[in-house]
Amino acid sequence: MALIDLHHRRIDYLRISVTDRCNLACVYCKPRGEMKMLEHRDILTYEEIQRLVSIAVRLGISRLRVTGGEPLVRRGIVNFISSLRQFSGIEDISLTTNGVLLANMVEALAQAGKPRLNISLDSLKAARFHKITGSDNWHAVWHGINRAEELGFFPLKLNMVPVRGLNDDEVVDFARLTLKRRLHVRFIEFMPIGAKDRWHKDECVSSDQVRAAIEREFGELVPFTSSLSAGPSANFQVPGAQGVIGFISPISRHFCGSCRRLRLTADGKVRPCLLSDREIDIKAPLRCGCDDAELERLLRQALEIKPERHHISESESGCFRRTMSKIGG
Ligand code: SAM
Repeated sequence: MALIDLHHRRIDYLRISVTDRCNLACVYCKPRGEMKMLEHRDILTYEEIQRLVSIAVRLGISRLRVTGGEPLVRRGIVNFISSLRQFSGIEDISLTTNGVLLANMVEALAQAGKPRLNISLDSLKAARFHKITGSDNWHAVWHGINRAEELGFFPLKLNMVPVRGLNDDEVVDFARLTLKRRLHVRFIEFMPIGAKDRWHKDECVSSDQVRAAIEREFGELVPFTSSLSAGPSANFQVPGAQGVIGFISPISRHFCGSCRRLRLTADGKVRPCLLSDREIDIKAPLRCGCDDAELERLLRQALEIKPERHHISESESGCFRRTMSKIGG
């Protein structure tokens, strides 16, 4: 029987975090001070993830996203992504990456069946990229994006989180990228999640504010719909542009009513809502030799704690027990 939660949402999408490690330290994602990383033995093995996926697919999961931390830092990741194609119910496999290692791996990824790529990039300026991420790798990321485009990865999505005073003056430049290229540039609202000491409400730039800035430059955006762009993003184009501009507005216009996701964290927790800290452990049962029926029961239990919606926008609180890199952003 399909995975249907208490609020009648059919769950068909699993986001799999393969590591909590990341080769960047983005100021809005990583708390100040040392972050304790998982021990290797606490991270699910690929075989353990594959076992869970095999059960989830039988229950109607048809879309998988591999994420992290930074998924490309985990050894064997390309083979793992390729292995996900063995599950016949899977219709869509995608990868979220910061792109630092992409240029060197993109040909292998193409051979592994071209997962759809989402690349996070918060600045088009190398010096500012350094300020945000603590890394000098802007050119490497840009090269990776260009190589992926040359190799025909499509749609190729660039995800940008505008943070007031940090990079929000670049939203028009990001939108400009879509004029001549078939890129999907998506603006994601800064959420009160992860690094509590980094989160300030005043720094959140709403999708409406980003859209207004873009429309001041390019005129009114026109709605864009396509089966390729289904999901939480509201999509538009500058008239005549090649690419697409998307707005993902978890705070100002939540899309919980149409949420079809479960998340699997690198340490083996099923997390039904990004913005709720409630999770179901599957690692211990997996490692105690539980049978498939028990894993199915745990997946269904996760559905029971999937909240109808988040209340982050109304409350002043956030969700700060784990960073995005530890949940799987
Ligand atoms: N390393 C991969 C990457 O950079 O795409 C995957 C993991 S990363 C945590 C996923 C996304 O989460 C990134 O696009 C990052 O910008 C976003 N992110 C992290 N903290 C966030 C926050 N508080 N609000 C909104 N997005 C956030």
